[in-house]
Amino acid sequence: MNHLDIKSLNLEELTEKLKALGQPTFRAKQIFEWLHSKLVTNYDAMTNLPINLRETLKEKYPIIALEEVNSLHSAKDETIKYLFRLKDNQVIESVLMKYQYGNSVCISSQVGCQMGCKFCASTIGGKERDLLPSEMLDQIYRIQVLSGQRVSNVVIMGTGEPFDNYDNLMRFLKLLTDSMGLNLSARNITVSTCGIPDRIRAFAEEEMPITLALSLHAPNNEIRKQLMPVAKKYELDEVLDAFKYYYDKTGRRLTFEYSLVEGINDEKEHAKELAGRIKGLNCHVNLIPVNPIKERNFRQSASERILNFKNILEKNRINVTIRREMGADINAACGQLRKSYMDNQSKT
Ligand code: SAH
Repeated sequence: MNHLDIKSLNLEELTEKLKALGQPTFRAKQIFEWLHSKLVTNYDAMTNLPINLRETLKEKYPIIALEEVNSLHSAKDETIKYLFRLKDNQVIESVLMKYQYGNSVCISSQVGCQMGCKFCASTIGGKERDLLPSEMLDQIYRIQVLSGQRVSNVVIMGTGEPFDNYDNLMRFLKLLTDSMGLNLSARNITVSTCGIPDRIRAFAEEEMPITLALSLHAPNNEIRKQLMPVAKKYELDEVLDAFKYYYDKTGRRLTFEYSLVEGINDEKEHAKELAGRIKGLNCHVNLIPVNPIKERNFRQSASERILNFKNILEKNRINVTIRREMGADINAACGQLRKSYMDNQSKT
């Protein structure tokens, strides 16, 4: 179990800590608001706290705040990609995407990833460690402060497998939707998973109406295994059953992510097989032209093949969109910025 820093504590836990310091209950509330609503990063900014309490807190409960290393602004759209440094010098990446409906931030849930998906840059060096709830929150907090933009949507779709860091993820989600914090609506949050059935079921029991996205990427087990090692552990039907269970419990429309890789999962037969498999589910398919990474020789499907794939799904009355490639000019695909930063560091 990770040691939890002050920004990872909920109000009750914070109240307990302050009580132990002989402080009244309202102090905890004040600190919680400074951290999670006013988004300050040091105790000196908490001007309504007595100075001696600030000094004690500095000693006992150092505040975790991410440090901006770099930001890349897309010339094609308004996407901004941030590279942040953590206390132990690890770096992580997060992305701000501006849509008509509001600002969306894509955050990382781990430093690196151990799931091993073949087309993904985040997993090449394996997993370094899990992120703390505060480190997930602070990606959003810092982006809101740095960009001066209010964040209305959050997707946990950056580096890492959120369900491989389940307890911290849940803590993070509760703090993010806390009425005294940023107070985001659970409906505006999406968690994306490679598909771990028991965690999907546990998540269904949490009773938070969060959108769940499943990285499907194949119409059957055989192809899925070629792209995603996790498919060797869990049969597709088992994953889909857990996914359906999530729908039954929450009523949230399901999202499938399907990255099209030329010659591997983008044939007409694959589209038909996929349609047969998910027909009748209240779902949405996001087709993503695979973003080629230099470490692998996967190629993006030609746009005609992508359109054919889409048409077959639509003929089967399945909701489908082709995801716009936001920020493609700034290494915005999963883990590419962090990877290129690390590669450069190791050269120097
Ligand atoms: N581990 C989680 C969330 C992180 S990955 C998951 O698997 O869902 C977020 C999404 O981006 C996943 O659907 C993943 O498969 C996809 N992805 C990763 N690298 C990609 C690439 N190079 N091109 C297209 N999609 C990619």
